[in-house]
Amino acid sequence: MSDLDAFRMEIRAWLEANCPPEMREPVRDEGDVCWGGRNFKFKNPAQKAWLDACVAKGYTVPDWPVAYGGAGLNPAQAKVWREEMNRIGARPPLSSFGIWMLGPALLKFGTEEQKVHYLGQVARGEIRWCQGYSEPGSGSDLVSLQTYGEDKGDHWVVNGQKIWTSYADQADWIFCLVRTDKTNKYQGISFLLFDMASAGVSTKPILLISGNSPFCETFFDNVNVPKHQLVGELNRGWDVAKYLLGHEREMISGAGGNDRLNTIGGFAKRNGLEDPLLRADLAMFDVDALAYSAMGEKFLDEIKVGKAHPAQPNMMKYAGTELNKRRHELLMAAGGSAALEWESEGSNGGSKARNWLRTKANSIEGGTSEVMLNVISKRILDLPGA
Ligand SMILES: Cc1cc2nc3c(=O)[nH]c(=O)nc-3n(C[C@H](O)[C@H](O)[C@H](O)COP(=O)(O)OP(=O)(O)OC[C@H]3O[C@@H](n4cnc5c(N)ncnc54)[C@H](O)[C@@H]3O)c2cc1C
Repeated sequence: MSDLDAFRMEIRAWLEANCPPEMREPVRDEGDVCWGGRNFKFKNPAQKAWLDACVAKGYTVPDWPVAYGGAGLNPAQAKVWREEMNRIGARPPLSSFGIWMLGPALLKFGTEEQKVHYLGQVARGEIRWCQGYSEPGSGSDLVSLQTYGEDKGDHWVVNGQKIWTSYADQADWIFCLVRTDKTNKYQGISFLLFDMASAGVSTKPILLISGNSPFCETFFDNVNVPKHQLVGELNRGWDVAKYLLGHEREMISGAGGNDRLNTIGGFAKRNGLEDPLLRADLAMFDVDALAYSAMGEKFLDEIKVGKAHPAQPNMMKYAGTELNKRRHELLMAAGGSAALEWESEGSNGGSKARNWLRTKANSIEGGTSEVMLNVISKRILDLPGA
């Protein structure tokens, strides 16, 4: 038996002993997701037990170093971990912007003290983070952002407004882009971390078409941010921001998923599926989903050998989010009028319709599809005039 096979057996046995049956059910709605944080309320004891077991072994962030709360798995072992989780349909023990976005940026740009302090908190699910990038008028053109931090010696005083800040009203801390030099567009932005409970921070939820309110306007009114909460170099926050965006795009591209036809096929079967045009659409979707999975595997292999194109996450983001929108269009088409139910118990509070509407945002959040195509044409295809 190879070392990797032995490792797989070890993981399989550990999961069998530690992943509660309730945590092997598909995530049905937001309440099933464990976001962690100071104010997080566990849905049931199984959700907490699953998180605690994974934290103890470093499995909330399996490929992070042990010193920062991870399990120190190498890429091959981390793949085994994912495969074994998928095999039993285990839910992620912890979902967090700290894991998907801030963590990779801190691993690359943070000081040793910042890594030990913040990454440990992220790995244990103690602090929930939100992302303060977009501003009114600065979305795709992010570098035009105006939120300003005035230098006061040992701290900055931050004033300004962010928008579309996901879960700002539930987050404990924010990673935030702040202008610290008004004379230099690109090299005048700094990447700051601060507590959302700081004096002068306030949030106002924005209601979405799905009936949910997952994000906010966020206001900073004379917020004091100590200098040691700067990540990377002063005025070079754009480098950190771009690196983080690559990870955000990878994360959002995961929406493309790899469940191919399982969800749609099962739903369609229960509801009968005779329309030949819909059947053809399903088959086409299945082929594209398979191609998308293959692209993801190729990308992971390229990362492993250090040969991934830096703009690759833009391709994954574009393809994954467009695919996910199609998946939900098909689910709605296959479900007929029943899929439009909005509040009934049988429809789990209208989760199908609400999830379908939520996917409309996939090709906007983290950079729009048009902007992804611009990047692909310029940096990957090297098209003239792009
Ligand atoms: C669900 C959701 C969650 C989000 N969460 C966060 C968050 O947590 N934190 C955060 O900071 N932001 C967040 N955002 C904001 C998101 O990053 C922005 O919405 C996105 O970058 C687009 O910016 P914008 O909304 O200002 O649109 P704009 O930039 O104004 O774009 C409007 C339209 O113009 C097009 N366009 C713009 N520039 C170009 C160009 N150069 N070429 C071609 N077309 C172009 C766009 O594609 C789009 O169709 C979230 C957004 C959504 C929808």
